[in-house]
Amino acid sequence: MRDWPGSREGLVATKAKTPQREETDKSPTAVDRAKEEAAAAGRPGPSQRAEVSNLDIVRFYFDRAVERLELADDIRTVFWTPYREVTVQIPVKLSDGKVHTFSGYRIQHNGARGPYKGGIRYHPEVDVDEVRALASLMTWKTAVANVPFGGAKGGVNCPADQLEISEVQKITRSFMDKIEKILGPTRDIPAPDVNTNAQVMAWMMDEYGKLHGHTPAICTGKPIALEGSYGREQATGRGCIYMFREAAPQIGLTPAEATFVVQGYGNVGSWAARILQQLGAKMVGASDATGAIQSEAGIDADDLARHIAEGGKLTEFPGTEVISPDDLLAIECDVLIPAALGGMIHEHNADRIKARMIIEGANSPTTPAADQILHQHGVHVIPDVMANAGGVVCSYFEWVQNLQHFRWSEREVNDKLGGIMRRAYRDVSGRAKEEGISLREAAYLVGIERVVEASRTRGYV
Ligand code: NAD
Repeated sequence: MRDWPGSREGLVATKAKTPQREETDKSPTAVDRAKEEAAAAGRPGPSQRAEVSNLDIVRFYFDRAVERLELADDIRTVFWTPYREVTVQIPVKLSDGKVHTFSGYRIQHNGARGPYKGGIRYHPEVDVDEVRALASLMTWKTAVANVPFGGAKGGVNCPADQLEISEVQKITRSFMDKIEKILGPTRDIPAPDVNTNAQVMAWMMDEYGKLHGHTPAICTGKPIALEGSYGREQATGRGCIYMFREAAPQIGLTPAEATFVVQGYGNVGSWAARILQQLGAKMVGASDATGAIQSEAGIDADDLARHIAEGGKLTEFPGTEVISPDDLLAIECDVLIPAALGGMIHEHNADRIKARMIIEGANSPTTPAADQILHQHGVHVIPDVMANAGGVVCSYFEWVQNLQHFRWSEREVNDKLGGIMRRAYRDVSGRAKEEGISLREAAYLVGIERVVEASRTRGYV
């Protein structure tokens, strides 16, 4: 993984080093099969992910909020539908000598509050509806965090874990080449997401620079060597823990005595775990796409991250018991951090959850039906739309630094991140209390209100 600057423990980075890669069958049928297998690997059990899509989930919360805000139907349509959707064809000759055609998407949802901002995801399950959902979630998220961005998302439906590094580079450059017209430091600024990382952002910046000259502010989440920001890699996980620190006293939880479980030990999950452990909390369960483990005595978050970064399997981490991914959710603990994919907590498994608090590191991990069950059980849910905003907040810092060609220290970045995350938590929890609603409902209200106000003030609607 060291050959990937600023590498995150994504599938791309881990698999790209695998020597047997050279023998991989790259025929179009094999790639299609690989897509199916990779999709299956993201869903170890049939009951693991919900039938409901990310788009349905975001739509549900959006509808509830606009109902409460009494927005007229014509205005609702403006704020639900994306401003611009671009789909491009990415034909790439892979090492088997054949041309494989992938689809790339960039969807700009709403730019009333500033340039569009959102990650780029490489995953076989990426489709236009998922990207739409994630783009609108970004609009509300940037507004809740109160950073001057709109919302966007992008993705390519490639099985990144089956590809060589050089093939991922080809896809990235071809994708950037085709979408650069709608991007720009004052228009739309991509960032990493599932299976993309600092290296991918470096290629994106380089490709954009061929046409526009050196433009570091074109994307965020870049390597430190290429004007990336200190603290960006850890920011989403760190942001989750800033939120936890605000919320813990509200439910009488002492961080040093807390136990926690992480679903999805990737970038967000592993950093949240390492930072929560620094507060004295103990990790008692963890999972990734390869399986799940538990230990009542505790799993050292730093050692587990190192073990995986060095190529070890999570399920082979010493001193732990392998359990089924479904049983992970049922572990006795204070805090559960879902940090894998969307729809992992649904009506068929929500009532097994014993945690008192859920911090949604992933986007849309909880379906509306599950959310209701958790609410009935009195679980304190810190929703994705605020909990995982740390990444985009730090991206905002990176962008500000890039525009000035000036670098802040990691401490400065973390302090500023803490300030913004605390303020967001207080804004939302104040509103939740005032109206007697959940943090999720309150976050959507706060986010949508800010976007509507900006749109009206600039005369867009
Ligand atoms: P990542 O690729 O680094 O990590 C994802 C992890 O989830 C991996 O460990 C993977 O093995 C695991 N996983 C996949 N399928 C699983 C399954 N079925 N069960 C258990 N684990 C599974 O990605 P990431 O950047 O950490 O993103 C994770 C989530 O957080 C995504 O939903 C992403 O949209 C969201 N998010 C990320 C950021 C960011 O800055 N990286 C910011 C906001 C939100």
